[in-house]
Amino acid sequence: MDNYQIADAFALLAKIMDIHGENSFKTKTYANAAFQIEKLPLQLADMDAASIAAQKGIGAATAQKIAELLQTGSLSILNEYIANTPPGVIEMLSIKGLGPKKIHTVWKEMGIETIGELEYACNENRLTLYKGFGEKTQNNVADAIRFYLNQQGWFLFQQAEEIAQQFLQLLQIQLPTHKTVITGSIRRQMETVDSIDLLTTADATAVMPLLQPLDALTLTEELPNGLCYQINNGPQLFIHTTSSETWGHALLTTTGPDAFCNSIIASLTTTAFASEEDLFTAAQQPYILPAFRDLPQDVIDAAGNISAELIQPQDIKGIIHSHSVWSDGSNSIREMAESAKAQGLEYLVISDHSKSAGYANGLSEERILQQHAEIDLLNKQLAPFKIFKSIECDILNDGSLDYSDAVLNSFDLVIASVHSNLKMTEEKAMQRLLTAIAHPAVTVLGHMTGRLLLSRAGYPVNYDALIEACAKHHVCIELNAHPRRLDIDWRWIPKAVNKGILISINPDAHAVEGFADTRYGVLAAQKGMLRKQQNLSSFSLQAFEEFLEQNKAAKTLAG
Ligand SMILES: [Zn+2]
Ligand SMILES: [Zn+2]
Repeated sequence: MDNYQIADAFALLAKIMDIHGENSFKTKTYANAAFQIEKLPLQLADMDAASIAAQKGIGAATAQKIAELLQTGSLSILNEYIANTPPGVIEMLSIKGLGPKKIHTVWKEMGIETIGELEYACNENRLTLYKGFGEKTQNNVADAIRFYLNQQGWFLFQQAEEIAQQFLQLLQIQLPTHKTVITGSIRRQMETVDSIDLLTTADATAVMPLLQPLDALTLTEELPNGLCYQINNGPQLFIHTTSSETWGHALLTTTGPDAFCNSIIASLTTTAFASEEDLFTAAQQPYILPAFRDLPQDVIDAAGNISAELIQPQDIKGIIHSHSVWSDGSNSIREMAESAKAQGLEYLVISDHSKSAGYANGLSEERILQQHAEIDLLNKQLAPFKIFKSIECDILNDGSLDYSDAVLNSFDLVIASVHSNLKMTEEKAMQRLLTAIAHPAVTVLGHMTGRLLLSRAGYPVNYDALIEACAKHHVCIELNAHPRRLDIDWRWIPKAVNKGILISINPDAHAVEGFADTRYGVLAAQKGMLRKQQNLSSFSLQAFEEFLEQNKAAKTLAG
């Protein structure tokens, strides 16, 4: 073991002890020892115990630990701290600008244990509520996290699509006589992707000089039908090349997934198809949209021809699920409403956090009254645009909601979500969720698994049972449109709508910019073959008001 490795062990020990909030005198001793050991001209491994203890910055306790490291190759006290710290918390040390003291606050005060949760908390403005976290720090932390996560190989659809568009434009502008499109998993609108795929009729020899000068790219492989690049801090980039004559075949096979493609092309004896449509016709199959190709064949068949009814981004008529400065949002209700109105939307549902969400400045009963007065006033000024009174009510540990029935009845609708104690067994999660779904005040079940894509698996649920319960109690299921959530998973949408459940594509906007996330929800919903009439936020203002009335009546009847 060399001095650098020994110094690293002490530096890590000091940091983890700081994360645990240990006596700073002790942690400084180890941090200083690390600093001094790194500068030593001689290797500690070559010294005897007496001369080790005589070195500057090394006391008796440190000397003992150095001896342990040299003898066993590890440090028991460090191993113990590591075992008692969630891996995600230790991982936070890789985030630039986030020191051990701040990580202590993040872990112990905010209750955050993974980097993904921390990024999400930044989006929700939650860090600024804590001492030592200004808006600037929060922005820096968010940037550093994005950078770190981008190195992990998988990317959110949103991030990959933005990069794909840039390369697409570059090739389209530079090779105007050729056809170039986005293909692969982005074309299929997958929620996460590990590569960006473009298909072009240009030759590799024409593409290469265009990409050569870009510092952000490294050519890793020349393939028979294209080029493979690694994007710095990004996914792989595949440029697939084909001729106009085989365009349809190449587009199908590069789009994937393999199982789907193989089933379509199995009966074909040529690759000469100028379009995908020609290929489907030759295979005697109806054309299947790329977004549907990950679904089981029987689900695709059962849906029939839905192209005219498939939900589209422009079908969204209102914002359901949004936050304002009353809880953890960045904009006032007026700003949110005026922005929604300016975008041509007909209504806005303000659903700030409920009172037990202390981290998010949740609303007390008294503040609810004040907020409702503000909404009444704004509604007079902004008509015919309408703001609805709602709450994103925490589902408490026992499944109950954190207001009395009288308070819950003062809202136009209630969105119920789990935000606390996310680490639970399926049994516990189901008990909480089923209790909340059965509550007569609940209109929408928010982000049902709590997942954060690429960073936090949701708590385990029994989807079938949740869908049954929502159908029985007339509860809509949210498709949370935040690109890191997309929760309910689109794979379960066909089952839910078959049971007559309305999906609600909601941006969960914490600022006016958040409205734009609705598009990601729509793209995910398309993968679940959602029709526009099956989505609550596609209802016109009048239809939405009628729905709220009918829903309340239906729930009363259902008891
Ligand atoms: Zn929420
Ligand atoms: Zn929310």
